[in-house]
Amino acid sequence: MDNTEQKTTALDLHPQGDQFASLLENIPGIIYRCKCDKQWTMLYMSKQTKTLTGYDPQALINNKQLSFLDIIHPDDHVKVEQAVRFGVEQQQSWSIEYRIVSQSGETRWVHEKGRASYDTSANVLFLDGFINDITERYQAQLKLSRQQSLLESMSKQGQIGAWEIDLKAQTLFWSDEVRAIHEVPDDFTPDIATAINFYKPGYHRDKITSLFDNAITKGESWNIELLIITYSGKERWVRAIGQSEFEQGQCVRVFGSFQSIDTHKRLELESDKANRYNKNLAMLTVAPQVQSSNVQEVKKLAVKSMCEVLGVQRASIWIFNEKRDVLFCHSICIKGQGVQSSNATLNAKDYPAYFKAIYKQNLIAIDNVETHPATIDFIEGYTKPFNIKSMLDAVITTGDGNLGILCAETVGEFRQWTQSEETYLRSLATLLGSSLVSQRRKATAEKLKDALIQAEAAAVAKSQFLATMSHEIRTPMNGVLGMLELIQLESLPKPIETKVAIAKTSAHALLGVINDILDFSKAEAGKIALENINFNARDLIGEVAAAQAFMAQSKGIEIILDLVALEPSYLCGDPGRIRQILTNLVSNAVKFTHRGEVLISAALKRTKGALTLQITVKDTGIGISEDKQQQLFSPFMQVDASTTREYGGSGLGLAISKQLCELMGGEISLKSAAGVGSEFSISLNVTQAEQQVHYIPTVNINQLNILVVDDNETNRLVISEQLGHWGAKVALAYDAAHALALCKAKLDSKQPLYDIAVLDMQMPGMDGIELCKRLKADDNYKHIPLVMMTSIAGMEGAQRYSDAGFQAYFPKPVTTADLISALSVISSNNQQETLPLVTSGYISSLRKAKTTDLAAVLLVEDNPINQQVSTLMLKKLNYDVTLAENGQQALDILRGYEQNHFKMVLMDCQMPVMDGYDASRAIRNGAAGQQHKAINIIALTANAMESDKQRCLASGMDDYLSKPIQLDILKAKLAQYEGVDL
Ligand code: ADP
Repeated sequence: MDNTEQKTTALDLHPQGDQFASLLENIPGIIYRCKCDKQWTMLYMSKQTKTLTGYDPQALINNKQLSFLDIIHPDDHVKVEQAVRFGVEQQQSWSIEYRIVSQSGETRWVHEKGRASYDTSANVLFLDGFINDITERYQAQLKLSRQQSLLESMSKQGQIGAWEIDLKAQTLFWSDEVRAIHEVPDDFTPDIATAINFYKPGYHRDKITSLFDNAITKGESWNIELLIITYSGKERWVRAIGQSEFEQGQCVRVFGSFQSIDTHKRLELESDKANRYNKNLAMLTVAPQVQSSNVQEVKKLAVKSMCEVLGVQRASIWIFNEKRDVLFCHSICIKGQGVQSSNATLNAKDYPAYFKAIYKQNLIAIDNVETHPATIDFIEGYTKPFNIKSMLDAVITTGDGNLGILCAETVGEFRQWTQSEETYLRSLATLLGSSLVSQRRKATAEKLKDALIQAEAAAVAKSQFLATMSHEIRTPMNGVLGMLELIQLESLPKPIETKVAIAKTSAHALLGVINDILDFSKAEAGKIALENINFNARDLIGEVAAAQAFMAQSKGIEIILDLVALEPSYLCGDPGRIRQILTNLVSNAVKFTHRGEVLISAALKRTKGALTLQITVKDTGIGISEDKQQQLFSPFMQVDASTTREYGGSGLGLAISKQLCELMGGEISLKSAAGVGSEFSISLNVTQAEQQVHYIPTVNINQLNILVVDDNETNRLVISEQLGHWGAKVALAYDAAHALALCKAKLDSKQPLYDIAVLDMQMPGMDGIELCKRLKADDNYKHIPLVMMTSIAGMEGAQRYSDAGFQAYFPKPVTTADLISALSVISSNNQQETLPLVTSGYISSLRKAKTTDLAAVLLVEDNPINQQVSTLMLKKLNYDVTLAENGQQALDILRGYEQNHFKMVLMDCQMPVMDGYDASRAIRNGAAGQQHKAINIIALTANAMESDKQRCLASGMDDYLSKPIQLDILKAKLAQYEGVDL
C-alpha cells in the first residue's frame, strides 16, 4: 500500500482488469490520486469515499461539486496543508491524522498516508494517498489516555505508587510515584537490597525484612506503617502493602503499593502526643501535691512528668533570685537516674545571651544547641560534656513577673520541637507558676493569721485595760458623785449649793464620756448584752425629750413630739439602750440646731408578726453634706474634727447608736443636706409587753439590815452614808472573809440575819462572784438577796451575775434613788414571782409606769405660809395635794377615802386641836379607818434634835423631814416612799 512502491497512475489503473479495480474499490478507506494544486483537484477517488464522507467520489473528482479541502475540518486545514507541503518538498511520505466533516455533518477522525510522484526532473506529477477511518480507534485511545492520566494524577495525589519484584529475573520495578517518595534521582536503579535499606535502621528495617521473608516463604501479605529515610536523608512515614504470588510452591513475584502518609501520620502522632500532654497536665492539676501547694513535691512531679511525657533525657526547674540575675536549679530529673536535687546555678553575667533570650521570650525551642545563639555559651561547659543536643525552655511566669524556667533537654539526639511539645511545656510552666504563687499566698495567709492572733491578743489586752481603767476611774467617780449627792442632802448656803450642783453636772458629764468609750469597746468586742424588760415607749421618749428640753429652751429651739402612731406603747425590749440611742440623737439635734425645731416622731410597725419601733429625730440645724454622711457612723468621726471646732463631743455617739440598733435587729439611717437640717431614723425590733404593770413597792428602808462588802474605803463610806441617810442599818465588811465572819457572828448570836447584802465585784482574795457562791451554797445564808455593785461596768454583761445568783446588778456609780428602789423591789418581793435581774433599766421601767397618774398626798399643816410653800413644792413634784389644818381634820379627811388613795401623809408636829404625834397614834390605832392604819406618815419637824426624831418614830410615824423643807430633799424622801423619779 505504500505509494512509493506504486509505479502506476490512477488513470492507468482502470484499463487493468476488473480484479484489481474491485480490489481498490473494496479496500475500506479512501484511495485517491490528485493534482498537486491548491485545491488538490481529485483525479481518482475510490468508491469507499462514499462510506467515509457520504459524498459520491464523482462529486469530488475534478472538483465537480466540491474540493477535498472542503471536507477537511476547518481547524485541521493548516495542519494538513503543512504536512503535505513538507512531504512534497522533502520527497517524503506524510502520515497525518485529522478530522473530516461528512455530508451529514458528522466529524470523523481519519488517518492519511500519502506521497507525491515526480517525473525524472523531480517535478511533481500528482499526489497519491490512502485515507483510513480511525474514529473508533481514536476514541478508544482517547479514553485510555484519559484513564491513564487520571490514574497518574490519582497516584500523584495519593502519593501512592506500585512496585514489583520478579524473583525469577531478580528485578525490582518501582513506579514513578514510588521513586518520588524515595526521592531518588532519575538514573537511580533500585534493587531488592537497596530498597530494604531505605527503611530506617532498627525497628523499621527489621520489621520490613521479616515481613518480606514471611511473604516469600509463607505467602503472608503485609500492610504496615513504617519510617523510611529518603535518598536526600529525610524521615518519611509510608504505608507499605505487599503480597506474594506462588507458582508450584515457589514464590515468583512479590508486589504491592507504597504510599507516603507522612503528613497524616505526623498529624496523628502529634495529636496523640497532644492528648498525652493534656492528660498529663490534667493529672498534674488535680495532683494532691499541687492541690496542697506542696511546692517541693510539685517541682519533683513536674520534672518527672517532663522526662516521661516529652521523652527527653533531662528535665530541670530553675528559679530566679530576687534580682532575677541568677537561676538556681531546684530539681532535676535524669532518665535512668530519677529525680534529684541539684545546687547548680546560672549567672546572667556568664550567659548573657541565654538570659537575654528568656527575658525576651516566654519559650525558647532550640533544635540544635550548638548553633543556636542562646546556647552557644553553654557548649564547652555544659552541652558538650553532657552530650545535650536540643533544648526546650519555658519561662515560669506569674502576675508578678518571671519566677524561673522549666528546661527539657535531649541527650545524644536532635529534636525538632513540635507545636504540641511547646504548648505542653508552656502550660506546665503556667501551672507551676500558679502553684508557686498560691504557696506564697499561703505563706502570706499564715503571716496574716499570726498577725490576727496578735491583733486578737491585743484586743483582749485592750478590753482588759479598759476593764481596769473603768474600775480605776469609776471607783473615785463613785466617791465623787456619792459624796456630792450626800452633800446635796444637807442644807447648804446657796453659793455652795450652786457649786455642788455644777460639780455634780461635770462629774456626770465625765461619766458620760467614760461610758461612751466603754460602751464602744464593749460593742466592738461584741460584749453588749441586751436586757429584755417591759417599758412604756411613750414615757421613755417623753422623758428623753424632757431631759433635753432645758437645753433646747435655752437655745430657743422647740422640741415637738409626735407619738400618735406609737400604739401600743407598752413594749418589751431594752429601754436603757433605746434611751441611750435616742438621747444621743436628740442631744445632737439640739446641739447642731440654732433655730427652728427638733421633731421626734415614733411609730410602731407590725410586719409578719414582728414589731418594729421606728423613731425619727428631725432637726432644722446645720445639716451634714452628703460626702460626710456615711462616715459619721464610724467611730471618732465628726464633720468638723479640727481643734478649732465649734461643737464638742467624742464622735462615738453615732457609732454606738448604730451598733446598738443593729444589735436590736434594726438599723440607723440618715437623710440630710448641709444647711437644711438632718433626719436620723432608727428602727428596732421589740415585742409587745403583757399589760401587767409593776410598781416600785413602798418599803421602810429603816427596817432593813444591810451588809455592804467593799474593799474600797471611800466606797464603803459613801454607800453606808447613803443608806444610813434613809434610815437603814448598815454593816460594813472590808472583804469577803470579813463578810462571812459578820454573817457567822449574827448566826452565832441568834440575831436575825441581814436582809440584803450589797457586794463589790473586785476584792482581794475572794471576789464578789465567789462570795455570792459561798453564800448561796450555805443553807443559812442562801435566802439573803444579793446586790452586785461593780465598777468594772460589766464587760461580760449582767447575765453572769444573774446566773451566779444575784438579784440586782448596778455598775458604779449608782444613784441613791436606784439603789433604794432596787432594795425596795428586792426586799418586798416575797418570792411569789420570779423577778428579772434588777438593773437601772428595770427600775426605770417600773418607775415610769407609776408616774402616769398623779399621786395624792395629805398635807397636815397649820401654818399658812408653810401650807403654801409645801403645797407648791408638792405640786411641782407632781403631787395632788389635799390640805388638813390639824390632826383632827386629817383623821376626818382620811376616813372619807379608800386605802391607797393617799400615798402618804406629811404630818406637821406642832398643831392646834390635835398635834402630829397624837394624830399619828390615832391613825395607827385605826381612828382614820382600818384602811389607813399602815399609811406612810412622814413627820415635818422644825426640831432637828435626835430626841424629836425618836418621838416621831415612837408615835408611829415612818420618817421625818426637817424644816425648812427643801425641794430636793422632799423629792428624795417622797421618792423613797413612792418610787417617783428623783
Ligand atoms: P459627737 O456628737 O459626740 O461628736 P456623734 O457620733 O454623736 O459624736 O456625732 C458625730 C458627728 O456627726 C458630730 O460631731 C457632727 O459633726 C455630726 N452630727 C451628728 N448629728 C448631727 C445633726 N443632727 N446635725 C448635724 N450634724 C450632726
